[in-house]
Amino acid sequence: MMIVMKEGATAEQIAHVVERIEEVGCSAHLSTGELLTVIGAIGDRDRVAALGLEMTDGVDHLVPILKPYKLASAQFKKGERTVVEIDGRRIGGDHFGLIAGPCTIESREQTLDVARVVNDAGATMLRGGAYKPRTSPYSFQGLGVAGLRLLQEAKDETGLPIVTELMDVRDVEDVVEVADVIQIGARNMQNYTLLTEAGRTGKAVLLKRGLSSTLDDLLMASEYVLKEGNPNVMLCERGIRTFETAYRFTLDLLAIPALRELTHLPIVVDPSHAPGRRDWVPAMSLAAAAAGADGVIVEVHNDPEHAICDGPQALPTSDFADYADQVRRVAEVAGKLVTA
Ligand code: PEP
Ligand code: MN
Repeated sequence: MMIVMKEGATAEQIAHVVERIEEVGCSAHLSTGELLTVIGAIGDRDRVAALGLEMTDGVDHLVPILKPYKLASAQFKKGERTVVEIDGRRIGGDHFGLIAGPCTIESREQTLDVARVVNDAGATMLRGGAYKPRTSPYSFQGLGVAGLRLLQEAKDETGLPIVTELMDVRDVEDVVEVADVIQIGARNMQNYTLLTEAGRTGKAVLLKRGLSSTLDDLLMASEYVLKEGNPNVMLCERGIRTFETAYRFTLDLLAIPALRELTHLPIVVDPSHAPGRRDWVPAMSLAAAAAGADGVIVEVHNDPEHAICDGPQALPTSDFADYADQVRRVAEVAGKLVTA
């Protein structure tokens, strides 16, 4: 249930409603907009209904949320869109985020080279995995803490906020020291203990869609993070499994307008993993921007031929400035600003 407070409702009135909701064993999530405060009551709907909150001082009206996801639903924010802001860099609403960097952190030279290039070209954030989910247990698994240190160095030098994957709750303390945005990989989208733990860190979360997950599954997964009181969740379409074998995954661009209708959360597109080859990455990026995505997260490497992981799909650093210009132009046509 959503309790919409009157314009000008006082802090005491809001606190009183929260108290009543909690008294019946439900949890209350506040969303404070410019004019209105909306309180999401999560739990047994009948118990909340029995409170008769429509008659309580400061309450304007009650709206039942029909979707199984509550805090993620577009209804919860009454049309307002979530903007995730880190160090003044914004993604969501009118702001388009250009997140770029290597698939995996390999070395100091590679990390700093890529970070400098993407920063000079106006990227919003730097991506890079220190913990990698690999299909084969015999493949390189990431540099771990040493990789996190390199990301920290790149951040200290460029000021770029860091997006990096958390794969295991046991690594959460190390990862939060460096990450501004915790990436939850496609294979972990339904790892609910990991989602809860990521939510508790208070860091922004980039939640990638599972390989075979529906948009409802994705939104329910986001609810695990949101319910921890962490409103900064970005959803990421990265390609799903279909019967098509001509490319690695099918990038589901329809997820963009569909999610825009269902949720207020920013929608980011990963144009790299579905094609699996770099020459198709610009087309998917421009299409994502044109379709109304709030950002892209793209793989870039200073020496793609020798990359340890995902080299064929990495844009070479030498191409990145041109690529960024094109994406920026299309994002602007779609009514967004790219903030570096
Ligand atoms: C990645 O971003 O490098 C990655 C492993 O992504 P996904 O979880 O979408 O496969
Ligand atoms: Mn990758």
